[in-house]
Amino acid sequence: MPATRHFDVELNCNHCGEHFVYSAGEQELQTIRGVAAEPRECPPCRRLLGRA
Ligand SMILES: [Zn+2]
Repeated sequence: MPATRHFDVELNCNHCGEHFVYSAGEQELQTIRGVAAEPRECPPCRRLLGRA
């Protein structure tokens, strides 16, 4: 059993103000990449800002 369980969380985009889902699968990917922080922008805005 993994040490951390991930759950889908709903976040508010800092850029466009829209709600977006930060899925458990994405969180696991970010953990693998060593990124602990939650994203502050929704995926389309991250792409726009070049942070995808
Ligand atoms: Zn956004």
